[in-house]
Amino acid sequence: MSHIGHAQARFNALKMVGSRLPIKVKRPQNKNGQDLKISDFYGVNIFDLKKMKEKLSKDIFQRLEESIESGKKTDKETANEVAIAVKEWAIEKGVTHFCHWFQPLTGLTAEKHDAFLSLDAQGNPIEKLSGTQLIQSEPDASSFPSGGMRTTFEARGYTAWDPSSPIFIMESTNTKTLCIPSLFISYHGDALDKKTVLLRSIEAISKEACELLHLIGESHVKRVNPTLGTEQEYFLIDREFYQLRPDLLMARRTLQGSTPARGQQLEDHYFGSIPARAQAFMGEAECELYRLGVPVKTRHNEVAPSQFETAPIFEEANKAVDHNALTMDILKKVARRHHFECLLHEKPFANLNGNGKHCNWSLEVKSSNEKENGSNLLEPGDTPQRNLQFLLFLVSILKGVHQHSGLLRAGITSAGNDHRLGGNEAPPAIISVFLGQLLNKVLDKIEQGSKFDESHDQLVIELGVSKIPLVAKDNTDRNRTSPFAFTGNKFEFRAVGSAMSPAIPITFLNAAVAEGIRDIRIALETKFKKSKTKEGAIFEVLKEAIAESKSIRFEGNNYSDDWKKEAKKRGLPNLTTTPEALSQLMTEKSKKLLSGLKIFSEAELESRFNVRIERYNKQVLIEAQTFNEMILNQILPAVYDYRSILIQTIDQAKRHSLRTPEEDIFKRMGDLIELVEGKRKKFQSYLTQAASVKSDTEVSRVLTDQVLPEMENLRIHCDELESEMADYLWPFPKYREMLFLS
Ligand code: ADP
Ligand code: MG
Repeated sequence: MSHIGHAQARFNALKMVGSRLPIKVKRPQNKNGQDLKISDFYGVNIFDLKKMKEKLSKDIFQRLEESIESGKKTDKETANEVAIAVKEWAIEKGVTHFCHWFQPLTGLTAEKHDAFLSLDAQGNPIEKLSGTQLIQSEPDASSFPSGGMRTTFEARGYTAWDPSSPIFIMESTNTKTLCIPSLFISYHGDALDKKTVLLRSIEAISKEACELLHLIGESHVKRVNPTLGTEQEYFLIDREFYQLRPDLLMARRTLQGSTPARGQQLEDHYFGSIPARAQAFMGEAECELYRLGVPVKTRHNEVAPSQFETAPIFEEANKAVDHNALTMDILKKVARRHHFECLLHEKPFANLNGNGKHCNWSLEVKSSNEKENGSNLLEPGDTPQRNLQFLLFLVSILKGVHQHSGLLRAGITSAGNDHRLGGNEAPPAIISVFLGQLLNKVLDKIEQGSKFDESHDQLVIELGVSKIPLVAKDNTDRNRTSPFAFTGNKFEFRAVGSAMSPAIPITFLNAAVAEGIRDIRIALETKFKKSKTKEGAIFEVLKEAIAESKSIRFEGNNYSDDWKKEAKKRGLPNLTTTPEALSQLMTEKSKKLLSGLKIFSEAELESRFNVRIERYNKQVLIEAQTFNEMILNQILPAVYDYRSILIQTIDQAKRHSLRTPEEDIFKRMGDLIELVEGKRKKFQSYLTQAASVKSDTEVSRVLTDQVLPEMENLRIHCDELESEMADYLWPFPKYREMLFLS
């Protein structure tokens, strides 16, 4: 009986997994066989500015630095010299190939490798990397989605080196490849990737922030960079189990699986001791990341069993986005060496915590004034001037998020994240901002225009502004249910999904805030002309902005139903599905924001909508088809066999004139089969319907309104079958078997 084959495979897997030991890997060592400190091998596989400075002539290095700072294309001569230097460095390390490494619209990263190998005029083999090859490459763009911006007959696009992110060596079994971080652009200059728009958004926010700072007298400021630290959550599942689950293989999440008696209710996993095999895996993954100059800092268990988190030290957003892509890639690759599958999906298991990627975000100042350089604009200061500056930026953020909460929601949407948001474990689909008690009080006071004298001291004392640093930094003042929370000196954007690149969420956030800052600057310029004192003008502007953006602030429990009602009253959008959320990309407001700041042209934005809705549809259809097959190929055959065994038992008992209590369970199995088959047929008819409608938007509607809810219904009965029928016949590894690593 074939399904018994499946169940047998499950038991073999259980046995095999039970006997696994942590896998020991040699750590980086010196010549005497002693383990190295992290700082001794950190960044050995990157060609960063420090190495460039060593290897390049002074003039060329300067030119390169300038082009990084200005974002302008590097000239030919510079490119040639860098190419020679980086090639030599790489060849010394045994590298044979190079590739442009970029982040297309779907999937995480893309790469096409070329050997350094070339033949000279005499036909002799040589190693070559030219300046042109370094700065530009032409992958066959037709296989990457462009969302309708580029018709396939002109399938040309090119990748262009982004010198602001370091070149690195990717090592894998038998290969070492030099990866050149790049942007992906069409021949007409349209962005075909996630990085080009991110860089544009960084330019936009830097420009706006500098103008505001200059206006309030901070004339030394040269740039303002968004900073980003991503907390990456993931599950580790033994590959033996993973391979027996068509749903995990095809859809990266379980479509069926009854909740184990012990889930996460004991709350014993979070920060508990890390299982030995998982820790061995982490040790190796971290070493690889350190070699690549990714500053991973923390590791710990997460809330659900077999769930973990890693977080780096924050960096400039551009680098941090690349480093998060590398982190996800390394986690997946190294996991396999430890017989694990690393699940980055937002909701791999029902009724257990999903995976998020909290994006910690702030704004950092680059200034010619040494004291100011590197300072954090969201650090409440200890002088009145610093505090006013802090409040101006805080309020700009409130304004931006308030104006564009729909766009921010669109930025984090995906088929996977839809299952996580609003699931009583993750922020809801409503975007709001949490500030903490003290800041709220300060803003309320300003809004009420509490009587204050316009002289410095009194103002500060009245408002308690000078106390902000002490209290705001207190980590106890936390609201873990908020999608966007102030955490002392940065915001934590918690609604971002674990499997997605932070590039787009951060691009939209930068854009929204850039507009907020600009509005504040414009208002200030007007007020400065009229007001007696600078402080007075600032307070008037703050007051207006606070009143205007008030509805976006929420301090309560974001998981509660009351909040949904309250948010509706406040007019905040509650976009629970991807199609609804994505429609926010196409609103006049979003278009005006993004094209006004030159981050997306309208065509680029529309292409994002097309690509993402199509991807959503494909993902949900893959899930639906996989589930249908699991039911037909494995679940129902297993129940039929159970029924057949039961009926034999009943027949025998009857022949011996014995009682037959088995008839109850026999009947129950029959009822469940009928329920499953009935619903499955309905489900299949919805799938046929989805295949028959033409536009992607219509397909997505059938999927969200019919296919997904019916899939949930169907799942309930499949889960009942799992928990009620004989364990020895069940074809898939169960939650309890997969999730409790020893
Ligand atoms: P918490 O416990 O408040 O979440 P952590 O110190 O663990 O804080 O930080 C979480 C993440 O936030 C880390 O990746 C950290 O580097 C990052 N982070 C800290 N400060 C900033 C900042 N100014 N900008 C961006 N990210 C930051
Ligand atoms: Mg955190």
